[in-house]
Amino acid sequence: MKTKVYLRRVRINNGGYDRPGSYWGTGQPLYYFQADLPDTYSHTIWQWHTCDAELTAADVPSCRNCGRSVKRDLNEISDYTRANDRNHAKEIIQAKYSTLDLTFYR
Ligand SMILES: [Zn+2]
Repeated sequence: MKTKVYLRRVRINNGGYDRPGSYWGTGQPLYYFQADLPDTYSHTIWQWHTCDAELTAADVPSCRNCGRSVKRDLNEISDYTRANDRNHAKEIIQAKYSTLDLTFYR
């Protein structure tokens, strides 16, 4: 099943701030993406894990350091990524959520 991902570029001014005033710094273009997932998607939570362990594939499904699950059930994706351009952003997002078949919308 295809998952619809809404992907849009976030404009950053010369000082590195977006329109609401969050600081991102300058550099590669910034993209925001959002998707509602049709089924619960169990995602490895590399970026949300709170202990200091450097997680590897050997830490799935639970961290060798703290024993906590490194899986989280998501029903929505909402995140930012830096990318060279829109197609690059799509590649990054598809690689990150490799088990989902994504189609992109603006
Ligand atoms: Zn841990």
